[in-house]
Amino acid sequence: MARLELSNLHAEVAEGDEQILEGVDLEVESGEIHALMGPNGSGKSTTAKVIAGHPAYEVTEGEVLIHLEEDEFGDDVEIDEDQRTWNLLDLEPNERAALGVFLGFQYPAEIEGVTMTNFLRTALNAKLEEREELFEEEEGEEEEEDEGFETSPMEGPADEGEIGVAEFQEILQEKMEQLDMDEKFAQRYLNAGFSGGEKKQNEVLQAAILEPSVAVLDEIDSGLDIDRLQDVSEGINALRDEQGTGILQITHYQRILDYVEPDHVHVMLDGQIAKSGDASLAEELEDKGYDWVREEVYGTA
Ligand code: ADP
Ligand code: MG
Ligand code: MG
Repeated sequence: MARLELSNLHAEVAEGDEQILEGVDLEVESGEIHALMGPNGSGKSTTAKVIAGHPAYEVTEGEVLIHLEEDEFGDDVEIDEDQRTWNLLDLEPNERAALGVFLGFQYPAEIEGVTMTNFLRTALNAKLEEREELFEEEEGEEEEEDEGFETSPMEGPADEGEIGVAEFQEILQEKMEQLDMDEKFAQRYLNAGFSGGEKKQNEVLQAAILEPSVAVLDEIDSGLDIDRLQDVSEGINALRDEQGTGILQITHYQRILDYVEPDHVHVMLDGQIAKSGDASLAEELEDKGYDWVREEVYGTA
């Protein structure tokens, strides 16, 4: 079990003093699906980027914590109960990812000559290695430097503990079947000529491979036709059902929530969560828009 906790989070634009987040409180646990909704410009993407550690934003108040229960550690790791909470704001983006927070965005650019398969295997090994280092720090052990020979990503297995090519193929195949993705996809070069829908599917595939505790998905539904929306939605549901990932689904529209049913729905207005409820709140927003929430909360539209 893991819990991502935002408390009283305030953030402004790093270059300047425009305040965007004005005290966001939100908790997402493994296995839960939360929808974060709200009008354009309310601060949804900023919330996602602040969780990711995007340098364009400066946190001026509040916390972003991740708490991991014992079952999140490997068998050979023992971390005291009072040390299982990390303040993400003190950590680099790759360390945040290593602690199980996935932000689908960090959109890798098109890189010539790197296949999806190699990219994903490298990302998984990097996460596992970073995670081991973080846990060792908490355990207080000195890391032993392994001065082994470097091998190219095509050869593998490189280091001890690293996932080699053959093992990774099996993982990839299973996850791609889970997502109903064409096997050929993995042989394509990173992002080269990917359609909007393929990029979104790829984002879910990345999350399936990395097995995060909590995944933040920002507008993964935008620009998808209905078939792709259904494939992507099934993939998101599988993240939750097969690996217990908690989902923070950021969306402007209710449509995807017909396929990925949220346990909790939050409405963001002007950099704060103005209202929370269950799935029926999303339907109400679909019918009535966002203005009534503003009226209800602030007494004025
Ligand atoms: P949402 O995702 O809910 O549509 P955003 O988080 O993208 O909203 O933006 C919230 C507000 O903050 C908007 O008014 C936007 O213009 C402003 N904003 C976001 N990022 C920046 C930035 N890097 N520089 C200046 N203003 C920004
Ligand atoms: Mg500033
Ligand atoms: Mg946005």
